[in-house]
Amino acid sequence: MLLSSRVKGVSDSITQQLNEKAQNLAEEGQIIYNLSAGQLPIKPPQEFIEKIQQQLNFLKSYQYSPVTGIPELKKKILSQHFEKRKIEGEGLDVIVSNGSKQSIYIALGAILDPGDEVILLAPYWVSYPEMIKFWGGIPVPVKSNVYDAFSPVLEDIAKVITPRTKAIIINSPNNPAGIHYPEKWMKAFAALMKEHSEVWLLSDEVYSDLSYFDPEPTYFYQHEPSLIERTMSFGAISKSLAATGLRLGWTIAPKSAVSAMGKIQGQTTSGASALIQRALVDFDFSQLGRFLEPVKVHLRRSANMIREKLRASDLPNLWYQSHSAFYFMLDFSRTPMFARFAGEHPENDYSKEICQEILETLGIALVPGTDFGLPNSARMSLTMEEVPFQEAINKLVTYLITP
Ligand code: PLP
Repeated sequence: MLLSSRVKGVSDSITQQLNEKAQNLAEEGQIIYNLSAGQLPIKPPQEFIEKIQQQLNFLKSYQYSPVTGIPELKKKILSQHFEKRKIEGEGLDVIVSNGSKQSIYIALGAILDPGDEVILLAPYWVSYPEMIKFWGGIPVPVKSNVYDAFSPVLEDIAKVITPRTKAIIINSPNNPAGIHYPEKWMKAFAALMKEHSEVWLLSDEVYSDLSYFDPEPTYFYQHEPSLIERTMSFGAISKSLAATGLRLGWTIAPKSAVSAMGKIQGQTTSGASALIQRALVDFDFSQLGRFLEPVKVHLRRSANMIREKLRASDLPNLWYQSHSAFYFMLDFSRTPMFARFAGEHPENDYSKEICQEILETLGIALVPGTDFGLPNSARMSLTMEEVPFQEAINKLVTYLITP
């Protein structure tokens, strides 16, 4: 039977494919260091688990919630957003969805017409281009790399803005780079965006609580409050409450956008889990800092560990110090190992082949940079426990320095 041309144009999730391969190798008895994970290997805070358990007793927890979410939760999300970002805003609303992945997907559906362009700042989260293509849009990447600290040059962004530009997606803290854009950059970005009043600003903030070196992230709309009128901010419990499987995220956006997104949600998923929404209404978010403190200590330690190992191995040019989210990006193109793949053609991208070899020979699962828009690189996760993580990076660095 024939499948749609729309779905044929969309790639499978490379992260999930790699995870499967790593799991298969582990089942065959090979020792696997899975550094591809985008989630914390711990349970959510006990207080949140208890709130879920308490809600199990109520009929309403098993029934449809309003399409855009339970009003008390929406109110709570909005007031916390204002409080945390120290902003105010009229005319905003919230829509709660099945994870922020769905939030971003329906946000794009609410604004894109076929042929519309969406600017992405590379390296970018792998799902953005595929989601844009699903709605008939065209992803327009703007490059950055370790040398500019993964913050794209603003003139490069300005150059690709055209009358067809419908939106720009900005993800800070960033998956995969493990950085958030510096305040100075954010201010300049805000000033640039002020000049382009037709462009929607999609701000993916799912890692906003997860910065582990000062200073904390700031957002363009904090520097230029008028931009709030065309900003959609995405948040979730997946990363900061260690709850990827509970599938709950949200969008804070102008009322017109929330109403359009509600139409898509109402006709597709009907809304997010009533149980989890109700538990969140009761959960005291001020617990979050205490819950995340050991997580940040762990991320900081892992980031320092890999940095020290790379420095000691005389590999100074292939990384930029990560300071937020769960990730660390390695640029392979300056390693002695790279010549073996690149031969006469260093301009090509060998990320997938290199990651495949690393998985098969060292048992280390990394995510190739190709789908993040950063050739000849890979993303490694910092969430693994200390001892196996140290073992994995020792093996990996030996591999990188061996021609
Ligand atoms: N945005 C970014 C940058 C991510 O890395 C992820 C998940 O990995 C998501 C959004 C989606 O998260 P969720 O759908 O679990 O809320």
